[in-house]
Parts: sequence; C-alpha cells; structure tokens
Amino acid sequence: MKPKIHILATGGTIAGVSASAVSTSYSAGRIDIDTLLATVPQVFELADISGEQFCSIGSQDMNEAIWLKLSSRINSLLSGEDCDGVLITHGTDTMEETAYFLNLTVHSEKPVILVGAMRSASAISEDGPANIYNGIVAICDPKTRGRGVLCCMNNHLIAAKDVVKQHTTYLSAFEGGNSDSVGYVFGNNVYYQRDVTSRHTVNSEFSVEGMDKLPEVGIVYGYAGCSPLPFKALVDAGFDGIVIAGVGNGNLYRDLLPYAEEAAEKSVIIVRSTRCPSGPTSLDAELNDNRYGFIASFNLNPQKSRILLMLALCRTRDRARIQEYFLQY
Ligand code: GLU
Repeated sequence: MKPKIHILATGGTIAGVSASAVSTSYSAGRIDIDTLLATVPQVFELADISGEQFCSIGSQDMNEAIWLKLSSRINSLLSGEDCDGVLITHGTDTMEETAYFLNLTVHSEKPVILVGAMRSASAISEDGPANIYNGIVAICDPKTRGRGVLCCMNNHLIAAKDVVKQHTTYLSAFEGGNSDSVGYVFGNNVYYQRDVTSRHTVNSEFSVEGMDKLPEVGIVYGYAGCSPLPFKALVDAGFDGIVIAGVGNGNLYRDLLPYAEEAAEKSVIIVRSTRCPSGPTSLDAELNDNRYGFIASFNLNPQKSRILLMLALCRTRDRARIQEYFLQY
C-alpha cells in the first residue's frame, strides 16, 4: 500500500509567477497547490497525495499566529491513521524558522519535510518540482521516521536545527550551517549520513496546543559602535526576552552592555547569539554570563534562538533552566 502524504501549501517562490521565464522579478505565492502538483505528476506514483492550500504568502510575512495554526494542524493530521507524513511547501526566506518551530512543537515520529524553490514556478529550470519530488521520496522512506523536521532543498536533507538560508539567490542557498546535511536524495533513494542528536518532536517538552499567542521576544543586531536605542525600545515596550545577534562569540558593544545587564536584572531574559554565519556562541567566553545574567545560544542563530526563547518562556523564567534548553534543543 502506498503511503498517505498530505501537502500543506503556504506560498513562496515555489508557487511564484514571474513576468517571463527569464525575468528576475516575480510575485510569490500565486499558484495553488493543485496547479503546483500538476507540474510534478510523478509523485502520484509514489504515494497517495492530498493537498491543502493552508495560506498563500511570501514567507517574509510568516508569523507566530500562522505557526501556531500550522503546528496544530500537523499534530492533528499525524495523530490519525490517514496520514503517514506531511510535506509543507514554503517560501525560502523564513523556512528555517518555520522548520525549527515545528521541530519543537510537532509531537510525532512521522516525517515532516519543508520544501521551497529558489526559482519561481514559471522560470527556466525551476527547482520547485524536483524539490517536491525529492521531499516526497524522503517521506516515503521508512528511515526518515524519527529524525525530526527536515528541509529538502537541492537534494540535501537538512535538520531543522541546522538549516540556514546562506545565499539570497543561488540554487545551493540552503546549508546545514554548523553541521552537514543529515542526508540526501538521489533518484528514488534516500541516503542518511548522520543522526540528529538534539531533542525534537516526540522528545520535545514544548507544546503550543490551544495557544493563540507567544511571549514577545525581539532581536537586536550588534555592530561596531552599536547604539543601545533599539535594545532600549524593546525593553520599554515590555518585551519578555531579547536575543542579541552579537559580534564574534556573542560580544556586545560597551554602550549596550550596561543596558543589557540592567534589563537582565529586571528579569528580561537576554540571550547572546552571534551575527557570524557559523560557530557556536559559548558560555562565559569574553563575557561572564553568570555575572551579567545572560544566556548563551550555543549552536542556534539569532532567529532560531528567538523561537526557542519564546517557547521556553511559555514554561519558565528561570535562567538556568532556559540555559539548559539551549544546550539540549
Ligand atoms: N520572499 C519570498 C518567500 O520567502 C520568496 C523567496 C522564496 O521563496 O525563495 O516566500
């Protein structure tokens, strides 16, 4: 019997239409899931496929409200007998954030894979159909179970914790950042080269069922001579947590440091991450986190640190416990 796979379409370049096959300008999220699936009829030989137009946005417009609904929909689909896996078509801009949010809030061993495209559906050599096909091949493979949420782009299967969009336009835009991809798809075969060791899905303690909003967490970008004004604005607005995309190993400019220390004293949770494209932000490097009351993000980039901190703040404000989450997830 063929596996039953449900596709949730959210928009993005994969559903985008350009003025001509060679035009660089296009609008994301213009074609619906049925039209998109008609471009890759081969998937119906692999699985019983059903499609649902979940939303139609460019993923620059993704937000927490959609994440909460998406997570709840996937949990409900996967808890039934009629669905063996979920494929999500998604814009590439925030794909890594959606993947990581679902990795922590979907509680199933069944495969959940996100795919997108770097070229619109009407461009020469569009990559969307191949990414959809490869994503379906991966979901059909029993070895994909239990690996958490994955992104399938340009043949690579990349774990949600690691995946980063590291180039604005290349087909090879997606990489694993601090880790290699977990595997790859070639033809109708899936090859896994490593396991995912961080906690996710069935081993995640985070649940957002029934929630309609998340704690407010913002990101402040570090740079030479960094003004503390954006940081102060978030504190004054009552944000629960702030992630600092620090320089190097999560360092803060000297004018920002006292404000961050004061905010941490007033129980705003401050996470140090890095604007470097790769490498961990380690505990107690040039800054003593215990002294300042900060948390180090380790292998999470600022945008994924924000997601973990929002979920952590649904459970606790205890700094040591939140630091532990950053080590485990
Ligand atoms: N900005 C749009 C989005 O993220 C298009 C980019 C893309 O999908 O590659 O949905």
